[in-house]
Amino acid sequence: TQVLHIVGGGMAGSEAAWQAAEMGVDVVLHEMRPKVETFAHQTGNLGEMVCSNSFRSDDDEQNAVGLLHWEMRAANGLIMTTADKHKLPAGGALAVDREPFAETVTAKLKAHPRVTVSYDEITTLPDDGHWIFATGPLTSPDLGAAIQAETGAEALAFFDAIAPIIYAESIDMSKAWMQSRYDKGETEEERTAYLNCPMDKDQYEAFIDALLAADKTEFHEGETAGYFDGCLPIEVMAERGRETLRHGPMKPVGLTNPHQPDVKAHAVVQLRRDNALGTLFNIVGFQTKMKYGAQTEVLRMIPGLENASFARLGGIHRNTFLNSPTLLDDQMRLKSRPNLRFAGQITGVEGYVESAAMGLLAGRMAAAEILGITLPQVPQDSAMGALIHHITGGAEAKTFQPMNVNFGLFRPVDGLKGGRRGRKDRYKAYTDRAKAAWSDWLGHSTLDAA
Ligand code: FAD
Repeated sequence: TQVLHIVGGGMAGSEAAWQAAEMGVDVVLHEMRPKVETFAHQTGNLGEMVCSNSFRSDDDEQNAVGLLHWEMRAANGLIMTTADKHKLPAGGALAVDREPFAETVTAKLKAHPRVTVSYDEITTLPDDGHWIFATGPLTSPDLGAAIQAETGAEALAFFDAIAPIIYAESIDMSKAWMQSRYDKGETEEERTAYLNCPMDKDQYEAFIDALLAADKTEFHEGETAGYFDGCLPIEVMAERGRETLRHGPMKPVGLTNPHQPDVKAHAVVQLRRDNALGTLFNIVGFQTKMKYGAQTEVLRMIPGLENASFARLGGIHRNTFLNSPTLLDDQMRLKSRPNLRFAGQITGVEGYVESAAMGLLAGRMAAAEILGITLPQVPQDSAMGALIHHITGGAEAKTFQPMNVNFGLFRPVDGLKGGRRGRKDRYKAYTDRAKAAWSDWLGHSTLDAA
């Protein structure tokens, strides 16, 4: 019989091991802790939550991460059912009592007749056998080097530099406009690829003041700042001089504001499409270490973004992740070495829940392969499907940065009102459609169905 090896017993690896074992496949789960430590983990437990103890919103009708909870529960997910067992009171959020949570995850995996836990560090990419690498944002350095040797330096990042991402529908187009600098591009689409927000001198000066004054997050100890090449936080640029941003990401050249053709903007903030659907835009060059509250406040000072709603806020973190859109196939296999799958945060999702979700899919896919079952395509209308589709194909490869689940990744539902007013109905329609699609997939993915 063929064994599935899973490397990394965090959110993704633990879930993957559970799913594969429940499908009837023997699993060896390799975890380097407690022998080899990371700067963030504190214990040798499987499924350790490294920072906050929240799985975020549990609302499965109006929130995309709540929907992901629902889908994982429906799939007998180990991480979700254990989180439910150790839930703490936290309003609409799912907060978790982290120690008993990780202890239960560890105990349940160790007690599973098909799971063996092996406490060792894997430092190479094996040529044979079925493997899932779920080593997370703090993948050990030797393994990181081995992955980089396989993928090339460009395709494996060690830091994320996330610029804030905004829902297109929340941008005020009576102030902003679409145009590429100097109207560059072969097609009309390319000539209008960017969304521009103009600032006059007073607005620019006020914006710089706010940036300088904003609360910022410090790096964790041990999370050394090797990030300074090519991805300076905007507030650090502003500290270097009040004009630095105006000569950098906010330069006003090559652009004409159709709302005020005679006025030369003092500075321009540019946003770029973040997904093929055109529902999300990122602010070009605006990676930041500002705290979340400060970020929304400062960024809403940008003309056109006064009512911006954010699909995700910016950040810079130690984070090992692949350029999945170029490297992985739709089964999360490395195209160049299909016996190797990746799962979790290293595939370019962000968050405990999203990481576990990609572990759930990778575990099922690997088990199905070993058992000779063909799983149907994960439906794109489910939260699971929206995420896997984004990382393995939908996202722009050139600017790929880790993503958390959000409704901007979903295909629009026809015949519904856009804008803020229609939001509640729209989200309900997304979640209803997702639940039906996911239930259908689960029904067709069992051993009996195959
Ligand atoms: P992990 O849970 O980190 O699991 C990976 C496992 O692989 C670890 O147990 C590690 O020891 C092991 N491993 C690594 N290399 C090897 C090797 N070579 N051989 C064997 N084992 C290996 N997300 C949130 O939702 N909320 C937060 O508050 C949050 N805070 C974070 C704070 C920090 C400092 C970091 C780094 C990340 C944070 N994240 C947070 C992001 C992310 O969601 C979590 O890191 C999540 O745990 C990722 O799940 P994972 O399974 O991909 O990786």
